[in-house]
Amino acid sequence: MKLLTYHQKNTESVGVLNKNGDLIIPIKALGLTYPSMHELILHVTEDELNLLRNAAKDPSIDGIPYATVGKVAPIPEPRQDVICLGYNYLDHIDESARFKGEDVDLPEYAIYFSKRVNRAVPDGGEITSYPELDEQLDYETELAVIIGKDAKDVPAERVGEYIFGYTILNDVSARKLQGRHRQFYFGKSLDGFTPMGPWIVTGDEFNFPLDLGVSTYVNGELRQNARTSQMIFKIPHVIAELSSGFTLKAGTIIATGTPGGVGMGDDTPRFLQKGDVVECVVEGVGKLTNVVG
Ligand code: MG
Repeated sequence: MKLLTYHQKNTESVGVLNKNGDLIIPIKALGLTYPSMHELILHVTEDELNLLRNAAKDPSIDGIPYATVGKVAPIPEPRQDVICLGYNYLDHIDESARFKGEDVDLPEYAIYFSKRVNRAVPDGGEITSYPELDEQLDYETELAVIIGKDAKDVPAERVGEYIFGYTILNDVSARKLQGRHRQFYFGKSLDGFTPMGPWIVTGDEFNFPLDLGVSTYVNGELRQNARTSQMIFKIPHVIAELSSGFTLKAGTIIATGTPGGVGMGDDTPRFLQKGDVVECVVEGVGKLTNVVG
């Protein structure tokens, strides 16, 4: 099922999308009082999830037309920085090395970094550009994993039990800042750099190993096109490894890396400009569309 956060009458609420995708059933209408997606992830029970799942499938249940609400990222203000994987697809490693004029260096271990997200950008919202700070604005479509319960020392084969669901995240990047500061953090964390959504698809809809198409269109032109099965370090490995050292708290968002085809990867790099429309698509999850503002 698809769970989302939406804005109506000056309030942000949580709902479940019906099967046709045209109506939001507020969780409140089903007797659930969680004020936010984060609180729902923390405290929802299996019975409550089943209630939501059945409501989404029930054509007799009325809801709010999806087209009439204000869109909000599913977790609009994450409690902690998003954990990101760098260089997790071969063709992105190649293009990054080419852009930096370095030799290709395959990582023996996963490369982790984090991204500050004060406020995630919803589907339909604006990616903020900072031409005075960095004219090398780039997109990175990624499958993001949402942790459902505190995860510590989780073996790879049990990782599925700890996953609440999946969403799409555009790891927008300022390439000049990224290079200049020798660290991803600043160049990845500017306000308006994390489109996320449009919703969370719950984990029960997917099985490992995941093999989902990941693609990006810029102004209608296909730029990225890969499959999650091409990840070098896959989700069970990542969660098992990180949780062997620290607790991944419920609500943690992990962005699993981007494939080749980003703007810096072109022979003549093509960075985003004001007015560009970026569509991030993950098969089985949906499409996240944003305009560069
Ligand atoms: Mg990334």
